[in-house]
Amino acid sequence: MVVAPVVCSMAVITLDNYIGGEFRAPVDGRYLDNYEPATGGVYSQLAHSNKKDVGRAVAVAAEAFPTWSSLKPEQRSDWLVKLADAIADNHEALAQAESKDTGKPIQVARTVDIQRAQDNLRFFAHAATQFSSESHATDPRTINYTLRQALGPVACISPWNLPLYLLTWKIAPALATGNTVVAKPSEVTPYTAFLLSKICQDIDFPAGVLNIVHGTGQQAGAALTGHPDIKAISFTGGTETGHNIQQAIIGQAKKLSLELGGKNPFIVFADCDFERAVETACRAAFSNQGQICLCGSKIYVEATIYEQFIQALQQRMKMLTIGDPADESVEFGALVSAPHLAKVRSYLELAQSEGGEVLIPDEPIHLPERCREGYFMKPALITGLDNQCRSNQEEIFGPVASVQAFSSQEEVLHLANDSAYGLAASIWTRDLNRAHQLATDIEAGIVWVNCWLLRDLRTPFGGVKASGMGREGGVEAMRFFTEMKNVCIDYSET
Ligand code: NDP
Repeated sequence: MVVAPVVCSMAVITLDNYIGGEFRAPVDGRYLDNYEPATGGVYSQLAHSNKKDVGRAVAVAAEAFPTWSSLKPEQRSDWLVKLADAIADNHEALAQAESKDTGKPIQVARTVDIQRAQDNLRFFAHAATQFSSESHATDPRTINYTLRQALGPVACISPWNLPLYLLTWKIAPALATGNTVVAKPSEVTPYTAFLLSKICQDIDFPAGVLNIVHGTGQQAGAALTGHPDIKAISFTGGTETGHNIQQAIIGQAKKLSLELGGKNPFIVFADCDFERAVETACRAAFSNQGQICLCGSKIYVEATIYEQFIQALQQRMKMLTIGDPADESVEFGALVSAPHLAKVRSYLELAQSEGGEVLIPDEPIHLPERCREGYFMKPALITGLDNQCRSNQEEIFGPVASVQAFSSQEEVLHLANDSAYGLAASIWTRDLNRAHQLATDIEAGIVWVNCWLLRDLRTPFGGVKASGMGREGGVEAMRFFTEMKNVCIDYSET
C-alpha cells in the first residue's frame, strides 16, 4: 500500500501538481476548493495552475521525450505493467478516494472505475508490443513501408464522471507509443489523479514522462491545449468545450481527438426480452447517477408495450438503493457538484414547462446525518413530450430519462437520428434483420443490440455529429498517438 486517501479525517488535503517526478506547488500559490459530493464539505484543495505551471510541465515532458520514445516497446510495456500492478496494490484506497471525490457508490468505484484503470494500462502495455505497421510491395523491386513514430509531449484532458478510468484510457496509449504526457484532470474530481502521481513517484516511474497539472479548464486547460510544443490533444468532455478547443487551436498543426457528449437512444421493440430490457434500461439510464456519456437517456418503446414498460421501469427504479456512497449496499449515490445538481434539476422544471410529466419514485431517501448537505436527487422519467422539445434534445447528464412511444421501425429510426448527437444507441429486439438494419442506419459511433455498455477495449470508441471527432480504443488510439511516415525504397540496383 503506497497511497492512503483521507476518508474520515477532518484535515484538508493539498493536491499539488506532479511535474518532472516532483510535487510542485502552483507558481502563484493559489488553490481551489474541492468538495465531497456526499456531504457538500470541502475536503481538499487543488493547485489553481496557470500558464507558467503548464509551461514548466510541457518543458519537462519535452525534455523526457527523447529518452522515453527511444526505449524499446517492451521496456515501455514493462513500465505500464508496473503502474497497473501498483494500481492493483492500491485498489481499495483508490476506490475509496474515487467514491469520496465523485459521490459514486463505493462498489461502483471498486468494480468499474479502478478495475478499468488497471485494465486500461495492462491493455495498452500489451498493445505496445503488438503494434505493427503496413508495408506494400509496389513492384518486384520497390517496397513502401509505414513508420509510426511518437509525436512528442501530448495533452490528455479528462472529465469528472469517470476520473481515473478516463485519465488512464488516454495516458496509457499515449505512453505506450512513446509520447510523454501532460494530463489535466477535471478540477471537480482531481483526487485519484493526484494519488496516481504519488504512485508514479513511489515506483520511480521515469521523471517527466507523465506530468499531472491541476486547475480549471479555462486557465490550465486552455494554456495546455494552446501550448506550441503540445503535439496532440486527446480530450473527453462536453461538446461546447470540445468546440472551444477546436477554435482555439485553429492554425496550429496539432492532432485532435474529441470524445464529447451524447443523448443516446435506447430502443425497445415489443418482441424483446421484456425483463432484460427493463432491467438494462434502468441501468443504462441511472448508472453513475446518469452521469455517463453513453447513458440511454432517450427511451423509445413500441406503442403496444409502452404502458407496461413504463410501469415495470418505475417499479425497477423504486428498487434502487439510494444513499451514502460510502455505504456498501448503495447503488445510487450523489451527483458530482452543487451546480451540476442545480442544472439537472432545472431540466425537470423545463420538462414540466414544456408540458411533460415527471415521474419520480415516491419512496423517501434515507440519508445518514453526514449526508444532509450532499448533492442527492432521485431518478426521474419524463413522459408526454415530443422529440423536438429541449428536454429530449439536450444532454442532461444526470438521472433523468425521457420515454416516448413509437409505432414502426421507420418512425423510431427517424426519432433516433433526429438529434444533434451521435454517440451510442441500444436496440432491443429478437428480429435479427431489424437489428442489422437499424445498426447500419442509426447515426452513432457505437450500437449495442440486446445489451448496453458491453465494452471490448479493442473496439473503436467515439461518436459522430456533435458527439465527437476521431476514435479511441485499441489500434485507433495507438494510431492517433503516432505520426505516420511513408518510406519508399527502390532496390532494383544491386
Ligand atoms: P467539460 O467539457 O466541462 O470538461 C472536460 C475537461 O475539459 C475538464 O478537465 C475541464 O476542466 C477541461 N476544460 C474545460 N474548458 C477547457 C478549455 N477551454 N480548454 C481545455 N480544457 C478545458 O466536461 P465535464 O467535465 O463537465 O464532463 C461532462 C461531459 O463530458 C459530458 O458532456 C459528457 O457527455 C462528456 N463525456 C464524454 C465522453 C465520451 O467518451 N464521449 C465520456 C465521458 C464524458 P474543468 O473541469 O476544470 O473545467
